[in-house]
Amino acid sequence: MLEIIILLGAPGAGKGTTAKDMKSAVPELVHVSTGNMLREAVQAKSAVGLEAKAFMDKGELVPDEVVMKIVSERLDAGPSDARYIFDGFPRTSEQARLLDAFLSEKERGRVSHVFLLEVPKEVLVDRISKRLICRDCGAVYHKTNIRPKVEGVCDSCGGELYQREDDNRETVLNRLEVYNNQTASLIDYYDEKGVLRRVKALDREESLATILDHLQS
Ligand code: AMP
Repeated sequence: MLEIIILLGAPGAGKGTTAKDMKSAVPELVHVSTGNMLREAVQAKSAVGLEAKAFMDKGELVPDEVVMKIVSERLDAGPSDARYIFDGFPRTSEQARLLDAFLSEKERGRVSHVFLLEVPKEVLVDRISKRLICRDCGAVYHKTNIRPKVEGVCDSCGGELYQREDDNRETVLNRLEVYNNQTASLIDYYDEKGVLRRVKALDREESLATILDHLQS
């Protein structure tokens, strides 16, 4: 059976970083980030990438069917009894419905936990507009708060650090609006199913500890 753990939260809430921390603590977890998959598709100039780019550049959501297709292909290509961390998916009620349908069809599995990472809006904007990411290992830095030892170089793997094209102030504000309008309704959706946990996500180690605690209970 597939067990799906969803990280929910606004852009900049720390979904990617938390997913990486969870994977370090529990190596058998499989991390799936639709944002990373879409960025790879854009870079490879594949059909999905060409379709997704215009939406991503504006901070809008890529159409539900496109995203569901890459997620279902990813799950179908992997083992049938794994535990996945989903970071950045689902992002609309339709995606949540499509995911439920996919999991219940052929009794593939279920959504076991949804962690809502809660961070004040001012912190989100600051985190994203100053965020730097390693091209090779995906580690996340911040221009003033989490600086690498050598400028532009990842401490962990020596990869090149870059700023995502959509991490500029204008697009960030649109992405936050998109989150409020299209993604925030998922909080109620999963709360009603009894799988939602709220996590204060200002301190990285504390939020990881809270999440691991819930996963074990
Ligand atoms: P992220 O890396 O999760 O911040 O995603 C970056 C961009 O990829 C988003 O602003 C969207 O344009 C697109 N994207 C990622 N995940 C999804 C999704 N589940 N549904 C629609 N668009 C997505």
